[in-house]
Amino acid sequence: MPIYEFECRACGAALEALRRMGQGPEGLECPRCGGTDLVQKLSSFATSAGSAPSCSTSPTCGAGGGGGGG
Ligand SMILES: [Zn+2]
Repeated sequence: MPIYEFECRACGAALEALRRMGQGPEGLECPRCGGTDLVQKLSSFATSAGSAPSCSTSPTCGAGGGGGGG
């Protein structure tokens, strides 16, 4: 599970928590003020999506002819 960062809207404290994909800050509370009004912050690795192909590290994904050696 990836670690997401949240920020308390009440006091501005930041906290990290393990969340499932698409799961919000439900169930979390601010460690400083105990508030539950948290907003998810954008993680740095979340911007990994780019021009890279969907499968670059998977060796079994290179289907489509056996051309191109070397
Ligand atoms: Zn707080």
